[in-house]
Amino acid sequence: MNQRTVVALSGGVGGAKLALGLTRILPPDDLLVVANTGDDFEHLGLTICPDTDTLTYVLAGLDNTEQGWGRRDETWSFMDTIGTLGGADWFRLGDRDLALHVERTRRLRAGESLSQVTHDITRRLGIGPRILPMSDDPVRTRVRCDEGWIDFQEYFVHRQCRPVVRELAFEGAGVARPQPEVMAALAPGRARAVVICPSNPFISIEPILAVPGLRAAIAASGAPVVAVSPIVGGRAVKGPTAKMMEELGLAVSAASAAGRYGDLLDGYIVDEADGAGISVATRAAPTLMKTVEDKEALARTVLDFADSLA
Ligand code: GDP
Repeated sequence: MNQRTVVALSGGVGGAKLALGLTRILPPDDLLVVANTGDDFEHLGLTICPDTDTLTYVLAGLDNTEQGWGRRDETWSFMDTIGTLGGADWFRLGDRDLALHVERTRRLRAGESLSQVTHDITRRLGIGPRILPMSDDPVRTRVRCDEGWIDFQEYFVHRQCRPVVRELAFEGAGVARPQPEVMAALAPGRARAVVICPSNPFISIEPILAVPGLRAAIAASGAPVVAVSPIVGGRAVKGPTAKMMEELGLAVSAASAAGRYGDLLDGYIVDEADGAGISVATRAAPTLMKTVEDKEALARTVLDFADSLA
């Protein structure tokens, strides 16, 4: 068992940027990326895992950087046709992306675990580090808005985050078992660092921490736990993080994001302007990742900081 493993908790877009930086400075065996599966859902008869797939496409160099999601070199014959037939076309599935969902669903139905399927697919796409789901058991994020509870993708994609969020729940989390390889990497004395990527705390990181045993294992691992703020210059770079903070009655700030992780954190990396009101050790650094060099530089800062806290 590798005693130098960096365990990174990640959602999709923001998390994958830092995960890519980490892949550029660590040997493949030294990085384990834990993907949020709270965004997963069943659609058109398929199991779709948006955060896992964003990580997969980004780390394989297959992501569509203009669109910000999905695969590059995509075609849309399937979506066009399903629209013509009156089918559900609100969740955009490109033809190449679709192949991944069809193959994953086939293997899950044949009895393979989500971990096995994810591991095999990431290997076939040439990814060295492990990407694993937080659990092989289904966890589904639900959103309470003014009209009641709705499924996460109904809120996020179909309704484009317009409903006001009153509460979030992670259905299935209470009985989900943590992914065993993740737990092994977190055994006391094993991990070099636990990195909480700059992902949406409410819908990307909290579902991971809601899996029974995971939060306690991180706390007991003995490894420094360092998060990177998803709030840069007092604003979310992308997505509904800031909107959710407002709707849940929190200040829109890096400190609010840190507050979601409580005493789990040993260190927090924030942009120069965002350091106020944070009770844990902070390091200021440029946290906006536009180029691959930005991602690599931030990954180095994260590991330097973690090592200094060890
Ligand atoms: P999703 O699952 O695709 O929504 O992605 P994540 O939860 O992983 O990431 C969304 C969060 O990433 C948002 O809160 C963004 O503000 C944050 N984010 C995106 N790009 C960057 C970046 O370059 N730097 C930092 N610090 N945060 C970012």
